[in-house]
Amino acid sequence: MASTKLRVAVIGAGAAGLCAARHLLASPDTFAPPVVFEGSSRLGGTWVYTEETGEDAWGWTIHSSMYHDLRTNLPKEVMAFPDFPFDPSLPSFLHHSDVLSYLESYAEHFGIQDNIRFHWQVEEVRPGQKGQTGSPCGWDVTAVLRAPDSAQRVTEHFDAVLVCTGHYASPFLPAIPGLDSFQGHLLHSHSYRHPEPFAGQSVVLVGAGSSGVDLALELLPLAARVMLSHHGPPVSGLPEDVQQVPLLSQVAQKAVVCSDGSVLQADTLILCTGYRYHFPFLDLAQLGLQETDYGVGPLYLHLLPPQHPSLLFLGLCQRICPFPHFHCQARFAVAVLAGRCPLPSAAAMEADAQAQLEQHLRSGGLARHFLWLKDQQWSYADELAQKAGFPPLPPAVRGIYEAVCASRARDLATYRSQNYKLLGASAWELV
Ligand SMILES: Cc1cc2nc3c(=O)[nH]c(=O)nc-3n(C[C@H](O)[C@H](O)[C@H](O)COP(=O)(O)OP(=O)(O)OC[C@H]3O[C@@H](n4cnc5c(N)ncnc54)[C@H](O)[C@@H]3O)c2cc1C
Repeated sequence: MASTKLRVAVIGAGAAGLCAARHLLASPDTFAPPVVFEGSSRLGGTWVYTEETGEDAWGWTIHSSMYHDLRTNLPKEVMAFPDFPFDPSLPSFLHHSDVLSYLESYAEHFGIQDNIRFHWQVEEVRPGQKGQTGSPCGWDVTAVLRAPDSAQRVTEHFDAVLVCTGHYASPFLPAIPGLDSFQGHLLHSHSYRHPEPFAGQSVVLVGAGSSGVDLALELLPLAARVMLSHHGPPVSGLPEDVQQVPLLSQVAQKAVVCSDGSVLQADTLILCTGYRYHFPFLDLAQLGLQETDYGVGPLYLHLLPPQHPSLLFLGLCQRICPFPHFHCQARFAVAVLAGRCPLPSAAAMEADAQAQLEQHLRSGGLARHFLWLKDQQWSYADELAQKAGFPPLPPAVRGIYEAVCASRARDLATYRSQNYKLLGASAWELV
């Protein structure tokens, strides 16, 4: 007799995909062991450092944006999945290799490894054969084997799909007039690995998000001049040697022109301009979705297309504590698929997604920042926990996160030297 357990495909074995697999495995009466498709040869996603940039030897795009000396911008007490702490002997702010080891331990502890199909890149997900009711039934997932000279392709049917493919792999390149004519070294932060090649140079970094600010600090001891070009208010906590300049309006050979008309000479231009959401394996229109200013929508609770609730996207939001956030999304997704968390009608979910967007715009948010949850991440996590019936995140996570944000704003160069300690669900201290 055919098994009645639900078959779920998880796409991606980064932190979000591992977390999804861990919670599917925790309900063996409802779910068959999940199939985790991972295009690369290792688990860990973003945290798998490689010296390679651009494409690998087989022509596949390099996924990770990690650079050699990256240390986390959140302490381990806030980064950890709530059910799996980091090694207590480690400092709060970690080298990226410690995060990869942590994810490997997580996968081993929860028995995830054997469910991962390495080297299998998903290239298409489409609604399955229509059932007796005439509505689409499950999903047909086609994956290709990433191996030299292989064109091996397999299509399998699943009841549900969890998309966990990350969103820091497809660089967003701004349309700056004259950028093509730049005669110095031009790169996106996705391809930055080491500061040494830029020793003695004048470097202009475009964008003052986490990457722009971090690279400015990395380059400062070696470069002749570091300029951070952005349109926001001055970034607080940066050493004065990092020159903050207005946004670039034009590039010509080795000169860059700022929006106030000032002209700067640059040997290197590093675009720290973020990434775009990219789902080449989905036909968005077929799912009732479209590309939007902020990514893809409409998605109920930033998670699922109202018309296709058995396909869920984990980890699209930004300005969050990623691993605890994935934990809540994964537990919610599993509860929905198991039938333990009934969803509103498709029309009601669409209306809710629209109302959330309108609320964001009314409160002064930009459309393109709709997925930047920031302070809302806590009520969002609580809502998922309440709807799906699992314990909310411990309040100490928020407490430490807010203390770190304040400390970072005071001094970007030194905030990582602090160490935090969790004393319980609500209590923590600076050590
Ligand atoms: C430079 C940088 C620094 C960061 N620093 C921090 C930090 O200090 N603290 C923190 O908490 N977070 C940090 N983050 C955020 C980080 O992205 C998240 O913590 C988290 O690792 C994201 O996990 P993910 O699973 O969503 O995506 P990813 O880690 O990107 O994993 C996605 C996986 O999906 C696979 N994949 C993609 N497409 C396919 C396909 N079609 N078929 C099969 N497999 C596929 C990829 O190979 C990859 O393994 C940082 C991010 C970057 C880029």
